[in-house]
Amino acid sequence: MKCEELLQMLNEYVDGPVDPGVCAEFEQHLAGCNPCQVVVDNIRRTITLYKDGTPHELPLPFRNRLHAALRERWRETHPPEKNPPAN
Ligand SMILES: [Zn+2]
Repeated sequence: MKCEELLQMLNEYVDGPVDPGVCAEFEQHLAGCNPCQVVVDNIRRTITLYKDGTPHELPLPFRNRLHAALRERWRETHPPEKNPPAN
């Protein structure tokens, strides 16, 4: 699994339950990828906090916010290009 695929899966994770087989690959990637760990950890905590107070479905505005936060987090930990060394 690549980082981009993990992000894709995280989006699905926000929207609902994820296939357990996919989860195994997910965990496997996480075990070896620090930037992804940071993002996933953050999102999981947010979802857990929220789900504590509600049964199952995340309301749409909340999901949209979560998706936005996810992309933002992702950009921070996965810069599109390496910065050239400043001279
Ligand atoms: Zn990764």
